[in-house]
Amino acid sequence: MVEGACEASLLLEQPEDHSMMTFGPIPSRRLGRSLGINNIPPKICSYACVYCQLGRTPHMSIKRQHFYRPEILADRVRIRVEEVRAAGETIDYLCFVPDGEPTLDSNLGHEIELLRPLGVDIGVITNASLIWREDVRADLMGADWVSLKIDAVNEAVWRRIDRPHGKLEPASILEGILIFAESFRGRLVTETMLVEGLNDGAQLLEDLAHFLMKVQPEIAYLSVPTRPPAEHGVKAPDEAGITRAWSILSERLETVECLTGSEGDAFFSTGRIEEDLLSITSVHPMRLEAVRVLLARSGADWSVVQNLVDEGHLVQTEYGGESFFVRRLAPRTSSSAE
Ligand code: SF4
Repeated sequence: MVEGACEASLLLEQPEDHSMMTFGPIPSRRLGRSLGINNIPPKICSYACVYCQLGRTPHMSIKRQHFYRPEILADRVRIRVEEVRAAGETIDYLCFVPDGEPTLDSNLGHEIELLRPLGVDIGVITNASLIWREDVRADLMGADWVSLKIDAVNEAVWRRIDRPHGKLEPASILEGILIFAESFRGRLVTETMLVEGLNDGAQLLEDLAHFLMKVQPEIAYLSVPTRPPAEHGVKAPDEAGITRAWSILSERLETVECLTGSEGDAFFSTGRIEEDLLSITSVHPMRLEAVRVLLARSGADWSVVQNLVDEGHLVQTEYGGESFFVRRLAPRTSSSAE
């Protein structure tokens, strides 16, 4: 691909479809009610992840450029926010989560500034591939919440899973992440998509955990492919694999949570023991002892857990000589908001 030529024709071909610039608000377990902002025409990305739910990457690029006029984008968001508020609904976050990589938009920082008067916190979900650039870090600094994708710190595995643009250097990306993490004053989280047989090996997860210790994210999220991925044969690890990954990261990091596809029917604490068990285990595996304590506090007995296992809501797994309970993975066809 001749990168420059492809990008020039892209700009000419992309109409400014304003209706596609916002979507939602959608319920997001990470951000509450999140209004999505689509600042990239589909699908321009610096990666071609094997699990991408948008399919393959027809326009691969690492060149930052202008896509939409920032004033028009901000205006579309303002109108949508007013509509939502007029309907008596709330928005917890405005979140850049486009059909591609949001930091490829050279107006990102300006757009964040233009959205400030709306008085809603602003998030950006990025694959972090351009964070070695000072201007990208400066743009992200303007956000309140930033999620960085870190699927692997091992170069060969990173290349197999994220299939990056050929000019990207993993060492610069990791260094950029650390520089950003040190100076960012907002809420920083990381997200690692676990793919069976690619990045779910114990040593790979140990290496990832060591790196994340330096990043010190508020929460390190583990997710799994739940929608049809770009490539056949891409599968989520099973519940035992997720328990292992969560345990390895949790040994080194304060807060590790799973985004395993249960967001759509996530339960919130209700005081009802079944729902509380499902709520907690959809975020992270629960040790047997912790389950017993929760049951005792609620005055419930083991039959509650047994019923949830029998009905297929909970799965019992073993790791490191301990027994865990984890929420059964959602079927592939279910949706998982970011
Ligand atoms: S970084 Fe995101 S949009 Fe780009 S290929 Fe990967 S999953 Fe798809």
